[in-house]
Amino acid sequence: MNRRGVITSGVAAAAALGGAARAQTLGAPAAGGAKAGSSPFAETLAEMTWQEADAAAKAGASVLWTFGVIEQHGPHLPLGTDVYIPSAALRRTRALLAERGHGAVILPAFYWGVNQVSGAFPGSVEVQPATMVALMTDVLSSLKKQGFARVFCTSGHGDALHNKTIFDGVMAGRQASGVDAAILFNTPLVKRLGLDQANPAVLGFDVQEAPAKFIDVHAGDPETSAMLHEHPELVRKDLLPGLRSTDYGPADLAEWRKGQDAARAKTPLGYFGDPASADAARGAARLEAQAKAMADVILARVAAK
Ligand SMILES: [Zn+2]
Repeated sequence: MNRRGVITSGVAAAAALGGAARAQTLGAPAAGGAKAGSSPFAETLAEMTWQEADAAAKAGASVLWTFGVIEQHGPHLPLGTDVYIPSAALRRTRALLAERGHGAVILPAFYWGVNQVSGAFPGSVEVQPATMVALMTDVLSSLKKQGFARVFCTSGHGDALHNKTIFDGVMAGRQASGVDAAILFNTPLVKRLGLDQANPAVLGFDVQEAPAKFIDVHAGDPETSAMLHEHPELVRKDLLPGLRSTDYGPADLAEWRKGQDAARAKTPLGYFGDPASADAARGAARLEAQAKAMADVILARVAAK
């Protein structure tokens, strides 16, 4: 095959890896018995060859990059929950973009995020914001050098400082390399951080959430539902019935957000919400709604340039 042929097949592979490949890889046990979708590299740049990456960049593919953290998620969910869930959302987003004619490449997830709240629990890793900004600057500059012009950065972790740091890293990367990088957060988070929505590096998406009686922000119903859908093999399902809802309100949330020992005292088991009410189908629907909302914003941005 000539060079042009290689590139063409690379583009096809990069664009087609969405729906069909996902259906093959997720849900079906791999040869070794492990679920293929459990790999943090599943459907990312790490599984492509350099020719496929080159072809994707030349074809104008967007880069999707999510920022999670290794953090306690109660007795029932793995420490990598904030990496698994947004990675699944990006795989689905890419499939939706491919269906609508836009190629995207998923970067392996950033998982050494900033973690104030759960720092007092074993297994939670704390990274300084400056470390994260420096690494982001280098990665974004590398992408720009390789010809990827556009990068969308999402988050799997609610910590305010973590998300502010993603924004700072995006701004640093833009300044260092000229890459068109932007955060892509849900609009309530953008507002909570006080970010200027007129800034081209700030993109918000909206997902309708059913009103809840109590606040559910960490390892509760939404995250447990998503994990039951996407990675049921990693959920300690036998523990779920015994996990009582925290039934907390805004004052409890403010206390919990002080972090470290205050968070551990407020939630001794680690979750803030109602994990026992989780439902895989609801997790799937939420993931789909989020992926669709993100794909809409990405396509609008691509069309505007
Ligand atoms: Zn989480």
